[in-house]
Amino acid sequence: MPFFSTSGILLRKIEYGDYDLILVFLTKSKGKISVIAKNAKKSVKRFAGILEPFFMLDIVCKVGKGNLAVLCEADLINSYGKIRTDINKTAYASYWVEIISSRIEDGCQNSKLFDRLNHVLDVINKDCFLNKEVSILFLMKFLLLWGTVPLLEKCCVCGILVEKIKSNKIRFEIEEGGILCSRCTKVKIKKKSMIISKGTIKRLLWIKRSTLLKADRVCFPLLSLKESLFLLESFTGFYLGKEFKSLKFLNIIKR
Ligand SMILES: [Zn+2]
Repeated sequence: MPFFSTSGILLRKIEYGDYDLILVFLTKSKGKISVIAKNAKKSVKRFAGILEPFFMLDIVCKVGKGNLAVLCEADLINSYGKIRTDINKTAYASYWVEIISSRIEDGCQNSKLFDRLNHVLDVINKDCFLNKEVSILFLMKFLLLWGTVPLLEKCCVCGILVEKIKSNKIRFEIEEGGILCSRCTKVKIKKKSMIISKGTIKRLLWIKRSTLLKADRVCFPLLSLKESLFLLESFTGFYLGKEFKSLKFLNIIKR
């Protein structure tokens, strides 16, 4: 088939020569793809200002002789307008997009990832929840798809269930990938560990086990927000093996 069409969220826009743009999309049916938009820089009319990061578009592309498909048509589905006018929302969306851009291979088909990114962009755009809560949801759901997720149900060394751990403050050890009971803490403690409250673990477990819509119902008190974000951001950086520039920026603007 020389042509294909799909919905896609624009992750990155790269200038290519004097006239063209290379666009990286996360698409519904083809996973992450890179396409070339010829003359998009030169002609303002050609794509009418809709080739912008975070925009969701319906695209039609032609598979050419080169490595990159050529963008032929693009129609705007959702611009998630508030994200581009609010620096905090832009910073969060940039963080999620950087995670996907850097760790998902081109052509790796996963419509769930598209649905999850669409969901979190839509939710912060509509101001339904705090940006921090939405980021917790994105990180947990991304890690589940990635296949490496914090073990919160039980001690990652001896296996005692979290419900049976008596202390309300529980250690989470990044390199072990999960929580430690007080007995195992004494023998396994390493540098990359943190103390989190049992309430935070329960909320994170709810997010981990729920569908996207049910997960939205969980309410995070201030301490849980802080603990959850610190845990998931540290875990994501460690297991994806990358320091994200957009996360550094998020921390500079203090959210
Ligand atoms: Zn243990």
